[in-house]
Amino acid sequence: MGKTTGFLEFEREVEKYEAVENRVNNYKEFTIPMDDKALKNQGARCMDCGIPFCHSGCPLGNLIPDFNDNVYKGKWKEAAKILHSTNNFPEFTGRLCPAPCEEACVLGINEDPVAIENIEKNIVETAFKEGWITAQPPAARTGKSVAVVGSGPSGLAAAQQLNRAGHLVTVFERDAKVGGLLRYGIPDFKLEKKVIDRRIAVLEEEGIVFKTNAHVGKNISVETLKEDFDAIVLCGGSTTRRGIPIKGAHLKGVHQAMDFLKQNNQRVDGVSDFEEVLYAKDKNVIVIGGGDTGSDCIGTSNRHGAKSVTNFEILSKPATGRPANQPWPYWPMRLRTSSSHKEGAERFFSISTKEFLGDKDGNLTGLITTEVEWVFKEGERPQLKELPNTEKQWDCDLVLLALGFTGPETTLIDQFGLETDFRTNINASTKNYMTNVPGIFTAGDMRRGQSLIVWAISEGRQAAYHIDNYLMGKSNLPLKDSNDLPRV
Ligand SMILES: Cc1cc2nc3c(=O)[nH]c(=O)nc-3n(C[C@H](O)[C@H](O)[C@H](O)COP(=O)(O)OP(=O)(O)OC[C@H]3O[C@@H](n4cnc5c(N)ncnc54)[C@H](O)[C@@H]3O)c2cc1C
Ligand code: SF4
Repeated sequence: MGKTTGFLEFEREVEKYEAVENRVNNYKEFTIPMDDKALKNQGARCMDCGIPFCHSGCPLGNLIPDFNDNVYKGKWKEAAKILHSTNNFPEFTGRLCPAPCEEACVLGINEDPVAIENIEKNIVETAFKEGWITAQPPAARTGKSVAVVGSGPSGLAAAQQLNRAGHLVTVFERDAKVGGLLRYGIPDFKLEKKVIDRRIAVLEEEGIVFKTNAHVGKNISVETLKEDFDAIVLCGGSTTRRGIPIKGAHLKGVHQAMDFLKQNNQRVDGVSDFEEVLYAKDKNVIVIGGGDTGSDCIGTSNRHGAKSVTNFEILSKPATGRPANQPWPYWPMRLRTSSSHKEGAERFFSISTKEFLGDKDGNLTGLITTEVEWVFKEGERPQLKELPNTEKQWDCDLVLLALGFTGPETTLIDQFGLETDFRTNINASTKNYMTNVPGIFTAGDMRRGQSLIVWAISEGRQAAYHIDNYLMGKSNLPLKDSNDLPRV
């Protein structure tokens, strides 16, 4: 523990944001860096708990007290080494993770928790700036080859671990650029894409081969993959979008959030030849869905110059504090207000959309909602009840459906002949991440369903260990929650 009295002396501090009126004019990240002294003080707040709950709150098992202590002591290189021992890509989680570690931090019982995520981001940014993050190609090759299908965080983590174990790794990505939802879902103002490119350059130097516009099951056959590789790991994400099967859903102006977000990220990247331009300028926008995707649509619509942005959530409004039935150190379902919400959006909870309205040319002009209530009964699933006489009509020109994803697409599942679980995800237990077909593994959202970047990285790392074990009969790759294996 660096400073015994640190948590008594210093308040929690995180990076501040640029003013809304400046940041909504562009797609750049808008955090204002903290100086070294302020970051050291934040590291000093860590109490180096006997049982560090932060560590088990983190899906990666990050060694949080250890890197906090090194930041306090100004040993940034050591901190970067510790951080990378459990997390391949802290530059993604340090920007985008909802930080379950902070909700589990012991200091959070009666104080503000340690600013773990902000410390993480600053460690990795310092490491890149100082040139400490360099390619680590394996000392020897095993002669085995692995195909990774999908280049989101799970695919990238699996690829890096497997390459480090000495296997020849090829990543197949159907999109024009790699990164999965990091590239084409999450907007640039949350994650500038040069952050992905910087890491991909390291992975390429380590020897990983990336093939883009390579759609497995379409322009690359499953048979070719099976013939050419000793093992395959499917990291295709959970990409089947949930629709809203109500009257008027076909109207011009009702769009899936992912079409809107993907197009905007492509536009920021210089692409302009879109079949249909999705743009919110001067429009009354209604975003249906109150999660991360909905929040990203709000931030993007405001940057387009929307006339108004309204957000509907069917769930009831959560409390701002920690609910009594979700005590520390559990993840609490509380009201979260993102930087995009603060840029301007009216939020409505307990509201259900009943019908979209259009003009004679098939253009969206509005929608109708009712208020709803959730009824909870012991032993039963919560029931949604519409409240009588609460019908309301809203004017709008653009509706963005941010309703989540129902599971992975079926192409790979059908062509590889894979079993799925009751949630339509690919069935593979955490015991070895292997599907019902020997040699075919899966990780990330494709296995666990729509989730988080931190879980995707964790899954990729875990799957890599089991694939290495399958190919070699043993593995020296790190495995989470194992005491007998090194965390290198
Ligand atoms: C809009 C949005 C915002 C989000 N914001 C956050 C956030 O702030 N923080 C957070 O922690 N999480 C966030 N998430 C969730 C997070 O992005 C995902 O959990 C994570 O990206 C899942 O990683 P993955 O590698 O499993 O899959 P993905 O990132 O979905 O990547 C799958 C990749 O596989 C490719 N693919 C699929 N099928 C094939 C095929 N047959 N052949 C070749 N390639 C294929 C896809 O093109 C894609 O590139 C967000 C999600 C969305 C949609
Ligand atoms: S729980 Fe909080 S205070 Fe305790 S070791 Fe982890 S970060 Fe430090």
